[in-house]
Amino acid sequence: MNNMSALTELYHDVTVCKRCELYKIATRAVPGEGPENSEIMFIGEGPGFNEDQQGRPFVGAAGKFLDQLFASIGLKREQIYITNVVKHRPPNNREPLPAEILACSAWLDRQLELIRPKMIVTLGRHSMARYFPNKSISKIHGTAEVRDGIIFFAMYHPAAALHQQSLRYEIEQDMLKIPLLLKKIKETTKDMQNEKPQQLSMF
Ligand code: URA
Repeated sequence: MNNMSALTELYHDVTVCKRCELYKIATRAVPGEGPENSEIMFIGEGPGFNEDQQGRPFVGAAGKFLDQLFASIGLKREQIYITNVVKHRPPNNREPLPAEILACSAWLDRQLELIRPKMIVTLGRHSMARYFPNKSISKIHGTAEVRDGIIFFAMYHPAAALHQQSLRYEIEQDMLKIPLLLKKIKETTKDMQNEKPQQLSMF
């Protein structure tokens, strides 16, 4: 099975997922979207009202801001894979519970296996906690860590940055670091291109 059909199958499986209770209240699942060969994967928290209506990630106010941030480094959202740690909307936009994040984690792991991005950007605390456990976002945002040839980079959540001017400045500055980090990781892993393992085991 090629990557695209595996991704399509994953989207279907997410749509009918009942691993936690969130599907009961959500309008539809929001599995994620983007090219299957994307070099970067952005991971947010969970769908909000607009995402739940449309079945697409980051299509509300935070998504518009994210689009502006992409544009600031010359990227379009169509070039980037975007998903969330939970694929169904938590009621009233509450934060996802640890059990919901855990229940949903296999989907995210599978997306990573299929997309095999060179860079993973976490947006907000919950996404960060998945890859930088026990770290504080105010301390590590804008810093990168390389593991198994993949660069992990933590950023504030664009929704938080929209409402707080100081965070807005931070997220804008952090975004500007991405092109150079991506260039560096591509140079570092160039020789390993054909040796990439079929399955990533990072955790
Ligand atoms: N906030 C998120 O974390 N994800 C979305 O998809 C939309 C808003």
